[in-house]
Amino acid sequence: MAETTHTALPLKYRPMTFDDVVGQEHVVRTLRHAIEAGRIANAYLFIGPRGIGKTTLSRIFAKALNCQSPRGVEPCGECVNCREIASGRSLDVTELDAASHNKVEDVKPIIESVEFKPASSRFKIYIIDECHMLSNAAWNALLKTLEEPPAHVRFIFATTEGDKVLPTIVSRCQRFDLRRIQTNDIVARLKHVCEKEGISAEEDALLAIARGAEGGMRDALSSLDQLISFKGDKVTEEDALGVFGLVSRTALEDLARAILTGDTAAILSSIEMFDSSGKNMRRIAGELLQHFRNLVVVQALGPNAKSLTATPEQVKTLMEQARQVDAGRVFRVCDQIADMEDKLRYVLSVRTLIEMSLIRASRIATTATIEELMKAVEELRANPSSAAVKIAAQVPPPAPAPVPEPSAVAPRPEPVAANRPSPEKPKPRPDVELSRRKDILDDPKLNSILSSIPGATIVDIKEPRK
Ligand SMILES: [Zn+2]
Repeated sequence: MAETTHTALPLKYRPMTFDDVVGQEHVVRTLRHAIEAGRIANAYLFIGPRGIGKTTLSRIFAKALNCQSPRGVEPCGECVNCREIASGRSLDVTELDAASHNKVEDVKPIIESVEFKPASSRFKIYIIDECHMLSNAAWNALLKTLEEPPAHVRFIFATTEGDKVLPTIVSRCQRFDLRRIQTNDIVARLKHVCEKEGISAEEDALLAIARGAEGGMRDALSSLDQLISFKGDKVTEEDALGVFGLVSRTALEDLARAILTGDTAAILSSIEMFDSSGKNMRRIAGELLQHFRNLVVVQALGPNAKSLTATPEQVKTLMEQARQVDAGRVFRVCDQIADMEDKLRYVLSVRTLIEMSLIRASRIATTATIEELMKAVEELRANPSSAAVKIAAQVPPPAPAPVPEPSAVAPRPEPVAANRPSPEKPKPRPDVELSRRKDILDDPKLNSILSSIPGATIVDIKEPRK
């Protein structure tokens, strides 16, 4: 990033107290409780992706433990200890970056110094960042201290890769998994920062920045910083999209709508538009997957689900789309798009793969699933007319009905099927297209059920996907 004369926003707005920490309530609550109850574990392990506040939280915790005049459980931020920890000068708080210091010699000073009492604080605290990088020898050297640390010593480990930390270490720590910060939480924080900085920014511009940051507050703040230095104190969605190669929220939602309604022409023209304006196509695939994932969540848990990562505007669209399509189909569309995203890593012709995959996804979205048909069969058994009507309703836009022969006379409304006197010869309904796996195809029992659905013709059996 270009060097700026002002304090970088991530630094300026780095949380100083537990209250400031965004999106990690589950961790903060436990740490506060530990301080309140005076039950501080010997070692803590913070695991989570980069830029979500592991180091920040470690420092706040260290300050809270060593603060001379804490306000409740919050560090005061003003005493000598707080200020020294914040600036990395505290004699009693040692930070080690294991990414660059991972050898036995690097941890030796720690092992040698633990026995000495803290200079001016309650605890001697060792913060070891990217601890998964420590060599086995270094861990072994540390293990004994970790097993029986002196009463005044506390360890805080942080890592992006929890799986690489040895089980013997993990079992000696209180482990916390930090989450990616939700998009709407990042938007709220960015809004707060903009207000403080006197920047006017469109809501969708902040959303675009948050989307670009993928759950990392630090990245979001640096992006905002970058945008302000490019564009001044008015930030629009267009600026943000342009800088990060993202597409607008509405364009993405329109593409999702085209997939759900099987509108091939709209899908192709959207992709053409994105590609010709130099958008990051892989990114679009990821965001589309996120959209459909949210759709699955909305359908399963409703608009207030905690796991929904969407702003109120997005939720509105999700609700509208959730009503339009059966949940089973959305799930399969998700599957198709996830498959596409996976393949994108290996192909050269990104655009072609996206076009073909999304057209296939749109066919999936407009094709009745086996579950729908099975349900219809059961309903049909209980109530013959209703189920048949339901299958017809879920089938893609009906093919133009064949014109009845005696049509020269006055056009009269078609009589309803149920009213017809001859049930043994039902009027053919629009074809139901099935994607069946090989195993279902070979199952005579399932097949006999499927072929017993009146009016549903099985016209196309697709090759199963890998
Ligand atoms: Zn203090």
